[in-house]
Amino acid sequence: MSTDPKDEAINWRPETQLVHGGTLRSQFGETSEALYLTQGYVYNSAEQAEARFLNLDPGFQYSRFGNPTVAMFEERIRLLEGAEDSRATATGMAAVTASILSCLSAGDHIIAAKAMFGSCRYIVEVLCPRFGIQFTLVDGRDLNQWESAVKPNTKAFFFETPANPTLDIVDIAGVSKIAKRIGAVTIVDNVFATPMLQRPLQHGADVVVYSATKHIDGQGRCLGGVVLASKDHIKKYVHDFVRQTGPSLSPFNAWVMLKSLETLPIRVKAQCETAARLADHMAKLKGMAKVMYCGRADHPQAALIKRQMSGGGQVVTFVIDGDKAAAFRFLNALRLAKISNNLGDTKSLVTHPATTTHQRLTSEARAELGISDGMIRLSVGLEAYEDIAEDVERGLMAARG
Ligand SMILES: *Cc1c(COP(=O)(O)O)cnc(C)c1O
Repeated sequence: MSTDPKDEAINWRPETQLVHGGTLRSQFGETSEALYLTQGYVYNSAEQAEARFLNLDPGFQYSRFGNPTVAMFEERIRLLEGAEDSRATATGMAAVTASILSCLSAGDHIIAAKAMFGSCRYIVEVLCPRFGIQFTLVDGRDLNQWESAVKPNTKAFFFETPANPTLDIVDIAGVSKIAKRIGAVTIVDNVFATPMLQRPLQHGADVVVYSATKHIDGQGRCLGGVVLASKDHIKKYVHDFVRQTGPSLSPFNAWVMLKSLETLPIRVKAQCETAARLADHMAKLKGMAKVMYCGRADHPQAALIKRQMSGGGQVVTFVIDGDKAAAFRFLNALRLAKISNNLGDTKSLVTHPATTTHQRLTSEARAELGISDGMIRLSVGLEAYEDIAEDVERGLMAARG
């Protein structure tokens, strides 16, 4: 098994890297990447086993530490992100947990943006304090809040941008600059933007995490995650954490994700085009109180979006006139878009954040984040634009009652 020297020779463009990058071909010369569904590896001799454990002989030891199919996925996403190193994990939350806990110890302090995926809030607000790590939550949009939350023991900054479901934006370069000055690590959950639209490392962040469950699989099949950072950072913090605590990605899921990367650019491009067109159309519809979309000029942070994103993404969040009952009538009337808390899928998916993903928050906390009962999040799929648009109109008609 070896990396094809022809694949390595040229600095291919992203779309090409996603089809060829990181390929390890076996002696059979297969066209499509092989699925190495194995837990362990056998050695030719006792001497080779010894050398492998001493890191003197290249190769794999055990699939919790590494696996050829997982390695191909890690390398391909690494090339796309332009990171020095990467580690795949079983889920996006395993990636978030590894990225945060691997570099913090009791007595440290983490600052995070309030608008955060629910499980990420659990890591920061519940798990961290149990192990003696203090936290402060800030309005991620306001750089002054990041700055004034800094304490002598601040060691990490964590945020997601755009945030779910409000599509609030955090200034990656601005926060990274504060972090650099005090020697803290900046960790960005880049799920909503995808690596196609935003590369946080280029704006000064230290660590990027993905739930590969979302756009990277993009077809609703497997859970997965990945942590990307410099070689030094991975070696110092993430490598042993992932090896020894065991949130390893299954080779089968890695194979699905690896093959999905081949079509990521065309899927994201098509979904963004439909989402942009849909957002403009929806903004004109009767019964629509507000449409939030990162590609629209009326996004309150449009200038910042232009600086750090190369597209508006595939999520449109909107507020309809009316209460929870109206929002439920909207959701229940849809024929195409499915009610689901997932996103990034080829199928259009709708969520009512107030009663699902953000249900656990108090109503004050939801209000603070701008999540009202009339708010709906739409993850735009690969269906025909006209069919999705008609579905939204169907929903609005029902919402009006
Ligand atoms: C889904 C998601 C996660 C968690 O990913 P899983 O693969 O479900 O564990 C983390 N952050 C964001 C922004 C997400 O959307």
